[in-house]
Amino acid sequence: MTAPSNPTEIAREAFRQLAARRVPPTPDNYRVIYSEVAGQPLSSEEFPEKQLKQLAHEVTRIAPEQTRLGRELDEAIKYKDWGRFRKVLTDHVATLTEMQRLAWAELIGDLFRQWEAKSGSLTQGKKRESLEHVLNSSSANSRLLFGRLESLQRAWSQGSTTEEDEIPLSDVVPLQDTAPSVPTKPSDLLPEFRELFAYSLESCIAPLLAEQPKLAQETQQLAQNIRAALSLKQMQDIQGALKRFAFKLELQVEDQVELRASLIKLLRLVVENISELVLDDQWMHGQIEVIRGIVDKPLSQRAVDDAEQRLKEVIFKQGQLKLSLQEAQDALKSMLAGFVDHLADFAGATSDYHNKIEKCAAKIGAADNINDLESVLTEVMQETRNIQINALRSHDELQQTRQRVQEAENQIKALEKELAETSHLIRHDQLTGVLNRRGLEEIYEKETARAQRHETPTCLALLDIDNFKKLNDSLGHSAGDDALVHLATVIRETLRPQDTVARFGGEEFIIIFPDTTLAQASTAMTRVQRELTRRIFLHEHHKVLITFSAGVTALQPDDNLSAVTKRADEAMYQAKQSGKNKVIIT
Ligand code: GH3
Ligand code: MG
Ligand code: MG
Repeated sequence: MTAPSNPTEIAREAFRQLAARRVPPTPDNYRVIYSEVAGQPLSSEEFPEKQLKQLAHEVTRIAPEQTRLGRELDEAIKYKDWGRFRKVLTDHVATLTEMQRLAWAELIGDLFRQWEAKSGSLTQGKKRESLEHVLNSSSANSRLLFGRLESLQRAWSQGSTTEEDEIPLSDVVPLQDTAPSVPTKPSDLLPEFRELFAYSLESCIAPLLAEQPKLAQETQQLAQNIRAALSLKQMQDIQGALKRFAFKLELQVEDQVELRASLIKLLRLVVENISELVLDDQWMHGQIEVIRGIVDKPLSQRAVDDAEQRLKEVIFKQGQLKLSLQEAQDALKSMLAGFVDHLADFAGATSDYHNKIEKCAAKIGAADNINDLESVLTEVMQETRNIQINALRSHDELQQTRQRVQEAENQIKALEKELAETSHLIRHDQLTGVLNRRGLEEIYEKETARAQRHETPTCLALLDIDNFKKLNDSLGHSAGDDALVHLATVIRETLRPQDTVARFGGEEFIIIFPDTTLAQASTAMTRVQRELTRRIFLHEHHKVLITFSAGVTALQPDDNLSAVTKRADEAMYQAKQSGKNKVIIT
């Protein structure tokens, strides 16, 4: 049988042979039999893609030069370029040989000696900085790295650093495989991974925490530590710190979600009331001012909660007031209109009557006989009856108007009563503007929940003005009111925005200090006392010193508001007993 010559016949024969020899019909077997049938040996230039891919895949890609080698091999395989593949490999082997020729052992030994030697102004920190910079800037090229390390070693031996000292630590990426004393797993020490991680913390997470300066600072510190960690122990410490950090971030995210929900609620509240606002420009301005106040300050859950409560109250009161005002206005208008009408009628009728009576009187004077007199009398009686009817009508009208005014007055009274009855819904004290008891109860719940979530200490202080009765008696109740407003203002402005101030009763105030130890809360109260002597209360240009006695206590896990208040009250009582104007902790 002659050998097939055209490709179709060769292919058919190759398939037949595959079946006859019971060889598995794989592409490789087919290729071998095909070339046999065709009478051509397998091309020696055939590109062994599969095998080379496997080889490239097995190349370790940790250090940058390894990554680069792997990438170049991948490229060569992609273009099935055997020549290029060969060159990449031979070049790499040549570099390795050259690297082996460099006196690394000696250089590292010298560097270590200089590292440990004390030299003039050169601190360990400075040495670390310059070393890290050299490692970072030359890690891709081992020759360059060797040269720079040599000059660094020389500079250290002369007691000075190179100009590279000026490079800040944050710009530096340490190269792990040049630190011979680090016993770590390669996966822990991938320099790119570390740098990317540090960068993410520094440039992505920290800016998100702008409203939490402490946490943002911690993020920056973590990023620096990640870059600087050279030993397994340091890495393990960072791992622990990262776990704690992740937990704090988780809490932060929860707070952010809560904050966003409250903000949306707040905005809805404003929008819902827009229709109410259009009638009254001033009211509109007030609302906008509150919102502006919130937006201007750094956003916090407390500020938003506070604004929401305030808006609710203002809206509620405004609604009630508007209604009462409208009623009163209507009643007044109709009463005045009726009265004016009535006056005009009456005046018109009476002047007419006088004219007529005068005329009648003249007629009576001129009358000569009884007949004339009778007709005048009839006229007088008619006019008098008319004026009587008029007066009666006016009287009725007056009665009706009075009744309407009475009804309107009753309605206003009912509304006022309703307002007073629902005033327990209001959370702020009307005189001082700080929270009232109801507001305090709500904030207490929120603060204790938050404190438990964050595991932070919280304190409560109760203060009572000293000798307030005397102030009231000597200067008057209204001066007493002004003094209360002054005290509330000083407290508010002296303490932190997150501290809650509430009027607990007549001249007693409660303050909740979140994230505060007992000692810190006591110091804060003393600061308020000092501030009161600085910003003295003025009554009709006379200086009046307001002092208070206070008790401060730390919240315990199972406390409720009344138990904490009782403890603070007992401490406050002790302060009174021991001479007033004191802060006592319990
Ligand atoms: P101490 O130093 O022991 O606390 O003496 P004090 O006089 O402050 O205490 P006391 O309880 O005898 O008097 C409190 C006074 O506070 C009585 C009350 O008239 C006055 N007061 C309570 N609420 C108000 C208010 O809203 N306005 C004014 N002006 N006075 C008030
Ligand atoms: Mg009191
Ligand atoms: Mg008092």
